Amino acid sequence: MKKVTILLPAYNEEASFDLIKQRMQQVVEDNPGYDWEFLMVNDGSTDNTLQQMIKLRNSDERYCFIDLSRNFGKEQAMMAGFDYATGDALIIMDADMQHPVSAIPEMLKYWEEGYDDVYAQRKTSKESWLKRKTSQWYYKLLKSLTNIPIQSDTGDFRLLDRSCIDALKQMREVERNTKGMYSWIGFKKKGISYEQEERRAGKSKWSIMSLMHLAMNGITSYTTAPLRIASILGILVSVVAFIYLIYIIIVTNIFGEPVQGYPTIMVTMLFLGGVQLLSLGILGEYIGRVFNEVKGRPGYFVNSYNGKRDNTRHEKDNSQQS
Ligand code: UDP
Ligand code: MG
Repeated sequence: MKKVTILLPAYNEEASFDLIKQRMQQVVEDNPGYDWEFLMVNDGSTDNTLQQMIKLRNSDERYCFIDLSRNFGKEQAMMAGFDYATGDALIIMDADMQHPVSAIPEMLKYWEEGYDDVYAQRKTSKESWLKRKTSQWYYKLLKSLTNIPIQSDTGDFRLLDRSCIDALKQMREVERNTKGMYSWIGFKKKGISYEQEERRAGKSKWSIMSLMHLAMNGITSYTTAPLRIASILGILVSVVAFIYLIYIIIVTNIFGEPVQGYPTIMVTMLFLGGVQLLSLGILGEYIGRVFNEVKGRPGYFVNSYNGKRDNTRHEKDNSQQS
């Protein structure tokens, strides 16, 4: 029998566990013919999330849990999940159960048909107009900057075949943008659509700042196009400045030099200053990434796996890489 792992990264989700248990029960009933593993990752929660996981584990062996040593963020929590998952396929779901389990039979169907990455696209988003629009623009920008096809309106809710998981496991970068990675690794993809549910318990962990961080990461982690933009902008400004310089030389030679020019100087200075700061900022973003990667630190540390101290799997993965 094929084994399917459901990966549930959780940060301060103590209130969601009744729902999780209920939904996972439903998954088992709706999809006979599969072995299930429910792999929960406690991403350094400060509430009783870990206790809830232990409780679930004690009631049913199919529940497994990884307890990370602190809050590393969802991307890292998912990386830990990839390392520990034992299934032939993996389905990533939010622990707040905003992703409907009713989409799973369809995912499994396409997987059986030979698709390696069955991603779910949000049909209607209940998010605010601003959040929706900015995410649309962002995807457009990202698409135009990179040569890799990117699936819009797609989050982490998807089914990945073992081949995809093994590919993702080899990508050990610390500044992660998993959404971009799914596209980057390729493999046979298929989209299905789903209706996002309202969050039932607990509250959303995403702030404007963390979204900004994620967006910046998304761009810098798989395109160097902004560096090109900075160079082009620099060249353009220099050319314009040069033409203007020649113009000024000619004009002063013909008409003399009246005591003027304050506005032009101000405008040029501010404009050039802006372009320089922008270019520096872009460079800085990339250097920051290089700095973080070059340290070569593991993406996460594990307190325990199913209640037992365990770092073996993690170390194995690191040695594989070198
Ligand atoms: N999450 C996590 N670590 C974090 C933040 C969030 O593992 O540092 C998990 C969280 O528990 C949830 C999922 O990521 O299962 C999505 O988070 P959330 O529901 O807050 O995001 P939203 O649905 O509002 O975009
Ligand atoms: Mg949520």
